[in-house]
Amino acid sequence: MSNSLIFDIKRYAINDGPGIRLTIFFKGCPLNCKWCHNPESISPQTQKMYAKQKCIGAQACIDVCPENALSLTPDSIITDWNLCTVCGKCAEACPTKAIEMSGQQMDIDQLIKTIESESLFFDQSGGGVTFSGGEPLMHYKTLLQLLDECGKRHIHRVVDTSLFSRSEIVKQVAEKTELFLVDLKHMNDEKHKKYTGVSNQLILENIRLLSDINSDFWIRIPLIDGVNADEENIKKSAEFLSKLNWQSKLVNLLPYHDIGRNKHLKLGSSYNGDGMKEPAQQIIERSIRIFSDFGIQAIVGG
Ligand code: SF4
Ligand code: SF4
Repeated sequence: MSNSLIFDIKRYAINDGPGIRLTIFFKGCPLNCKWCHNPESISPQTQKMYAKQKCIGAQACIDVCPENALSLTPDSIITDWNLCTVCGKCAEACPTKAIEMSGQQMDIDQLIKTIESESLFFDQSGGGVTFSGGEPLMHYKTLLQLLDECGKRHIHRVVDTSLFSRSEIVKQVAEKTELFLVDLKHMNDEKHKKYTGVSNQLILENIRLLSDINSDFWIRIPLIDGVNADEENIKKSAEFLSKLNWQSKLVNLLPYHDIGRNKHLKLGSSYNGDGMKEPAQQIIERSIRIFSDFGIQAIVGG
């Protein structure tokens, strides 16, 4: 039975597809978007996170660390990453949860039990389960089994993905999925590479593939002034999407916030938000108008 690294499970989620949903976040992503709200989702390994503001200097972590990787400075606890084995003992010992581990191995049975425990809310609200990340398609073996199990239980299935994956995998997943939430980050390949680390070609091909096989999807665009919210990119996105066979014809615009900054601090990594700004209301309204001109409904959030 396959196991996967899960970094979060969100109950009562209302922005990850229709109705009230349970969202399961797989850890690991082939992209590295500069604005990523969940930078702990990118590495496919368990990671240690440290919130300095929660630390009371109790030093319980230092006492239990088998590698002597931790030391107290006047400012905070610091980790010698050459020594740390990410064993998690310091997180268990921390009385204030200033240290937490991100990523827990879970098997299909554990995940199905968690999903089943929420089924009453699914039935009442027209919701279901959303598989998100990170990138759930990186965990396709587990994902396919989970989709099968949910299908047997008549639970509505959504997969939230960048579609940066082999087309055979996308096809297999599509057979067992009612709705995809697909990120569309930039139509210009060079800019896509600059901001996410990968080309957009495979992603655009896979969006066309979903259209060709009549698989339904909503598109999600992180709307970032200075990156992709300009008129030219929004027009190109709308033009591309308008040519597809696409049942929902719905775009969720997700205005940028620098939420990832604090999480980068906790991970000890750096956040480079240079040139990225929250879009003004005028930019949001212009984007909605452009999509509408191409026969596509765009809404904020979702
Ligand atoms: S695709 Fe999503 S999870 Fe992956 S790096 Fe980009 S924003 Fe983060
Ligand atoms: S994760 Fe383990 S090795 Fe790393 S600092 Fe904590 S206790 Fe030490």
